[in-house]
Amino acid sequence: MTDELLRVDRLVKHFPVRGGALNRVVNQVKAVNGVSFDVKRGEVLGLVGESGSGKTTVGRLVLSLEEATSGNVFFDGTNITALSKKEMRRFRTRMQIIFQDPYASLNPRERVRTVIGHALALHDIGPPESHPDRAVQLMEQVGLSAAQLDRFPHEFSGGQRQRIGIARALAVNPDFIVADEPVSALDVSVQAQVINLLSDLKDELNLTMLFIAHDLAVVEHVCDRVAVMYLGKIMEIAPADTLYSRPNHPYTEALLSAVPTPEPGRKRDRITLSGDIPSPIDPPTGCVFRTRCPRAEKVCSEKMPKLVGLGEGHFSACHLTT
Ligand code: SF4
Repeated sequence: MTDELLRVDRLVKHFPVRGGALNRVVNQVKAVNGVSFDVKRGEVLGLVGESGSGKTTVGRLVLSLEEATSGNVFFDGTNITALSKKEMRRFRTRMQIIFQDPYASLNPRERVRTVIGHALALHDIGPPESHPDRAVQLMEQVGLSAAQLDRFPHEFSGGQRQRIGIARALAVNPDFIVADEPVSALDVSVQAQVINLLSDLKDELNLTMLFIAHDLAVVEHVCDRVAVMYLGKIMEIAPADTLYSRPNHPYTEALLSAVPTPEPGRKRDRITLSGDIPSPIDPPTGCVFRTRCPRAEKVCSEKMPKLVGLGEGHFSACHLTT
């Protein structure tokens, strides 16, 4: 058994844009453009970027909820992009998702007991008579109580609903979880509680996770490694300690400048990026970040930088990388 549970290899996803009287394909949204990474067993990889970076599409491609335009996803040694829907079914139990908006992902007419019961029954987890005890165990695991099993989603706060979403994902003992911006819809005061819960569960259950977020502050304490995405490409990937202490890429530096430092009184110099992320229909030539990069040079519009190894698992895609 290798260390690697997931390998994403040169993944591309272009969505057709249709228009005109004949509804022909007139353009392509280039959401993901040649993304590669791996996730080891027991590792949490953060995937961070602004909206429009393609990070959520990567999460959906990894789970085969979207069909890739090209590239491959290997899960536990099997190329799951090549599987039929029927063959994919046996991997579904092993790969779960925690959604961004827990309220939208829960049926308002179902009590929590039913939500968890459905997950257990759908994936055929243990005999039906074991389900009530398993539901209690899951509630306690996510910091809720057995007494809350008979409540409806609207009777819970946002943070509690996300705990139910986490319990539902854990119900089937998955090998791998995609957490798709699991705290973005929550109040700041509640975000830390849910992140701490995921961090505790990671240690307790040795979870392997792809943790998608739009800012670096969210993933700092839960991820082992972090990949930074911009306009469908990975700009930098590194062990979390390295990325936060020695970022290489100008985009990572800008994202990091918005993250508060733990030392009181010490502030990072804020780097404000001008403008919005360009349209993925017509990304800039050369380095896709060049239109907002404070350090862009002539070469940046001419040549696309490749991810270059800087040692110890640190890679950056910038022409100024030394
Ligand atoms: Fe900035 Fe050029 Fe580096 Fe891109 S390649 S990040 S534009 S300096």
